[in-house]
Amino acid sequence: MSNAGKEVVLGVDLGGTKILAAVVDREGNIIARNKKKTKAQRESGEILERIETCCREAADAAGLPLNEITAVGIGSPGPLDPIQGVVLETPNLNLSNAPIAPFLNEKLGVPVFLDNDVNVGTFGEFTYGAGKGKKHLIGIFLGTGVGGGVILDGKPFHGASLNAGELGHMKIMAYGAKCGCGQRGCLEAYASKTAMIARIQKRVSKGKISLLTEITGGDWTKLTSSAFVKALEANDKIASREIQRAAKFTGVAVGALLNILSPEMVVIGGGLVEAMPDEIMPIIRRHAEMNCFPIMYQKAEIVPAALGDDAGVLGAAAIAWKRSAEG
Ligand SMILES: [Zn+2]
Repeated sequence: MSNAGKEVVLGVDLGGTKILAAVVDREGNIIARNKKKTKAQRESGEILERIETCCREAADAAGLPLNEITAVGIGSPGPLDPIQGVVLETPNLNLSNAPIAPFLNEKLGVPVFLDNDVNVGTFGEFTYGAGKGKKHLIGIFLGTGVGGGVILDGKPFHGASLNAGELGHMKIMAYGAKCGCGQRGCLEAYASKTAMIARIQKRVSKGKISLLTEITGGDWTKLTSSAFVKALEANDKIASREIQRAAKFTGVAVGALLNILSPEMVVIGGGLVEAMPDEIMPIIRRHAEMNCFPIMYQKAEIVPAALGDDAGVLGAAAIAWKRSAEG
């Protein structure tokens, strides 16, 4: 099958361990994919070159010359400047003041647009996933950390600093548990996998029994979403309590967001939610409802994310379509 003459963009998901690139059409169909290791601790020039190569190989895999690619969209960890296309600083990548978009624009000869990875994931759900056809949407992604994105009137909302949407660091407990950001009481300090594992570890070290010890062989880095599913199926109290707690705090945060922004939809993503939506979503909805005005709750759907691991590349593609059309 020839892809010549078909309108496509390139969506790039830049992470600490891998770079994913996909050639995507307007409807969100992935025509070709490519993957490369990031080698995040190498010099920033080398990382930029690896992104460039990853893009070129993805276009090759689709059988398309670069001049047939309409635009490139990139999702990267931040903070960053989405207007200038510059990554300011990231904890897991050796990039500071790295002009990703201008660099790739020059090398590839194609317009390049950059945004925060979680904004991009949220925009992917908004364009091609659970939020198709909505106008105002919030995404919350529960993973190693907790990320979020806000779409208002069909656009990612960036605010004055251009870095709005740090929903994982909204305070849900005044001066509560310590967070990785250096402050206290953030949602991330209660609902991230890192926080959950730390609490489980502590309880087990105090002599509590959990099936999770057996499943992970005591290596807590192996505490995956599927390990939680297994433990829950066996009615493991420690696992169940921790999941319920993370879902409760996420629900409280969703309630606050509904009160402030009244979106039509809140999409909840991340491995745990995808692995057990039926356990987690009802708890989130219940606590959201208890923590906002009834009208805000009635007007909002609170749903699990639909795109899974493809949210990054599809969202980056959606950003490329949107911003290239704006000119
Ligand atoms: Zn924080």
